[in-house]
Amino acid sequence: MFTSITVCLDMFGCPNRCKHCWIGHSPNGNLTNDDLRFLAEKFRPFTNCLTVYDWYREPDYNDNYKELWDLCNSLSDTHEKHFELISIWRIVRDKEYVKWLSSLGLKKAQLTLFGGQEKTDYYTGRKNAYNEILEAIEILLESRISPRIQVFVNKDNIDELLFVEHLIKSLDLENRCQSFGGEFSFFLHQGSCDGENEKLYAIRVTPEDLQKIPQTLVEYTLKHFNKANIEDVFGRTEQVLYKELINDNSTASYVSATPTFYIDKEFNVYPNVAPPETAWLLGNLKTDRVETIIENYTENKSAAQHTRLSVPLCDIVQAQGDSKSQRLFSKGDYIEYLLNKYCRK
Ligand code: SF4
Repeated sequence: MFTSITVCLDMFGCPNRCKHCWIGHSPNGNLTNDDLRFLAEKFRPFTNCLTVYDWYREPDYNDNYKELWDLCNSLSDTHEKHFELISIWRIVRDKEYVKWLSSLGLKKAQLTLFGGQEKTDYYTGRKNAYNEILEAIEILLESRISPRIQVFVNKDNIDELLFVEHLIKSLDLENRCQSFGGEFSFFLHQGSCDGENEKLYAIRVTPEDLQKIPQTLVEYTLKHFNKANIEDVFGRTEQVLYKELINDNSTASYVSATPTFYIDKEFNVYPNVAPPETAWLLGNLKTDRVETIIENYTENKSAAQHTRLSVPLCDIVQAQGDSKSQRLFSKGDYIEYLLNKYCRK
């Protein structure tokens, strides 16, 4: 038995195709409420604390989002609050949506920018995304929900941060949130280096890029992550991490007593430590016994889990790392980036 299990079914996918998306791009699905019930039944025998979600990409993307929220609650032992992640696509198309979010007690909601209109549309993978985000900010404020802006940065868009700083000031977001007792927040980071974001490895930020971040945005970011300096947010260079890890012969298990599983629209099951890719596949709920899937997880039998548990880290680093690279990574993200590459070789 697990202490808890969280299962997330990719029922409808996502309207966006973000170029930083760690989950990666796959076609959208159109699953039924019975598919969600089927999923819950499969995992229920393995824990007394099951939490069921109808999404792992865009929340509330389908028209029956209220019904699905109630269904998830009825299938779960827990009663989670609504995430501060919302559907920007829906909020500008469905007047009821923000009222519903308010009724659930949502106080903050996250929006993702990449700079101005051109960069945001390009990196979100959808025309008009920028305009919809600005419209969404106004809708949220009218409903006394504080926007939290996230920016993913790389060498191609870091110069746009001056524009973002100006935008925050010109929209007077701090004062407008304070006027209803809310708090505006902001953070930026480079994201992990997996899924779609791995394709942006070549333009990943390096230490000299950090000087380009406006001071106000640095301060917001440090507050958000509760860090003392911006280097702690962006991590260390690949060169420094390589030097440290090339002498590290440890192995590791990703097995947890409180796992979260991602289940795609074909019912393939993955642990949520990395993108739902073949190397992490635990089995398929339609064709494999759930006991086998659970065993594959607990015994580290997916290709990626097995590799991390059996190949010393220094060998993975030597095979896939770049000892000269100045690109910035957190240690955990760097190990997973190398592991994913190693599994594909
Ligand atoms: S990052 Fe989020 S919004 Fe963007 S494509 Fe991925 S799941 Fe969709």
